[in-house]
Amino acid sequence: MERKKFIKQTLLTFPALYLGSSWLFSSCKKDDETQTGNWRGDVIVIGAGIAGLHASKLLMNLGLNVTILEATDKTGGRIRALSGMAEYDIQLGAEEVHGKNSEWYKLVTSTPGVTLHIPNGEDYYFLNGNLKSETNWAGDSVLAQAQTFVAAATNYNGAEVTVLEAEVAKGNNPANFNITNALIGNEYGTSNSRLSIKGITEEDNLWESGDDNYNLKTGSYKDVLNHHYSGVIDKVILNNAVVEIDYSGEKISVKTKNNQTYTADRLIITTPLAVLKKEIINFIPALPAEKKAAISKIGMGAGMKIILKFKNRFWDAATGSIIGGTNSVIIWTPGLGKSNTPILTTFVMGEKAEYLSNLGSDATNVLLAELDLMYGGNVASASFDEVYIIDWTKEPYINGAYSYPVVGGGIAQRIQLAKNVGKKIYFAGEATNYKGHSATVHGALETAIRVVNELTQD
Ligand SMILES: Cc1cc2nc3c(=O)[nH]c(=O)nc-3n(C[C@H](O)[C@H](O)[C@H](O)COP(=O)(O)OP(=O)(O)OC[C@H]3O[C@@H](n4cnc5c(N)ncnc54)[C@H](O)[C@@H]3O)c2cc1C
Repeated sequence: MERKKFIKQTLLTFPALYLGSSWLFSSCKKDDETQTGNWRGDVIVIGAGIAGLHASKLLMNLGLNVTILEATDKTGGRIRALSGMAEYDIQLGAEEVHGKNSEWYKLVTSTPGVTLHIPNGEDYYFLNGNLKSETNWAGDSVLAQAQTFVAAATNYNGAEVTVLEAEVAKGNNPANFNITNALIGNEYGTSNSRLSIKGITEEDNLWESGDDNYNLKTGSYKDVLNHHYSGVIDKVILNNAVVEIDYSGEKISVKTKNNQTYTADRLIITTPLAVLKKEIINFIPALPAEKKAAISKIGMGAGMKIILKFKNRFWDAATGSIIGGTNSVIIWTPGLGKSNTPILTTFVMGEKAEYLSNLGSDATNVLLAELDLMYGGNVASASFDEVYIIDWTKEPYINGAYSYPVVGGGIAQRIQLAKNVGKKIYFAGEATNYKGHSATVHGALETAIRVVNELTQD
């Protein structure tokens, strides 16, 4: 996702707004963070995404005995790369590092062979049937209205409604709804029709990690994981999906799909929120009602990336993103500033992802037709070479993109989700980040630190 991108985009237009939020970020205190405690015992960690890997590493460093159970045949979770389509790894999940003020930024930039950059391409907007660069749209009142709405969306002070309801209430021109959906709903992992505008304001006011978005210039996030978590990765028990957690006795007993049983004193669960929503794991006793309510009051829905490779580049070389297509929502150039291989990444969340997901491999034709419409003739379909679709909703142990605030939800739900149950079951993972960094890698990593501090208290 490209969270914060819209704020960066509107910097020149709204400098006061930007300065205001930077001041707010720097004024936040970190005085509520605890340190690790003295409790020692056996711990099971469920899930080997960044939250599971980082929590395991911290626990192992403290000398605790840790068993890590991962459902799939790989570590990294929603950090995953496609090798071979280009001369660099294309990121299928997390792609950008959001801001410098995070442990994740430190890990990435301290990995040999991995460097970051800000490619700063030019954005193209598809509006009223025309595709033009932002420079060439200058002065257009419809695009200006969309940009004004986007810039103010995280400073909202009205009724508790969806982003779409807020823009309709404002009387905005529906012609720009695809653009606002691309820059708000889609970035937050859903659609404007499902996203709480108060919810994103609440989260954004807590954001502390910085506003620059970095892309990989060299290397891959898997290099980062292999470099910093090698001792943990070696210990992960793969292909071992947890199906039952029995915490009724003194010891916790965990059953896996392979009919294996593991026991421990305490347990950390880092599965995506959608896995909890689907009740893939049976808890004995059932999770408390407040926990179940929190699980249902945080959103997590469909999301996918469709990577399109072409024989020739038909877009301008400086193109960063192509924003506002009906189904393509937002398309970007993953190789900008590092490769000439003509590849576009389509990043689609929420309603549009459901639509494309249902089409299966036919989704490619829909996207090519849309690109033809934008660029004229059959330029895209004639140049099409190959496609790779990662449909995160169809990944059985992910089941969607990432968490987002719904109307009637909010940070209070994340706080509830993050609470341990009986000092036995501890919750981590991006959805449990209640400090404004949910839906990100660095946010997931922060929850690992929080949960280890909490779990090691007597
Ligand atoms: C398309 C997309 C783009 C994104 N872009 C960015 C971005 O640019 N920047 C950014 O910072 N973030 C981005 N994110 C979000 C980021 O990837 C996630 O927030 C982060 O990786 C989540 O880490 P996690 O450890 O919480 O969960 P995960 O990485 O999902 O790890 C959870 C693990 O639990 C395992 N699991 C599930 N069920 C079971 C079970 N029953 N038993 C055992 N194991 C189980 C899963 O297989 C998985 O490995 C993106 C995500 C997606 C999907």
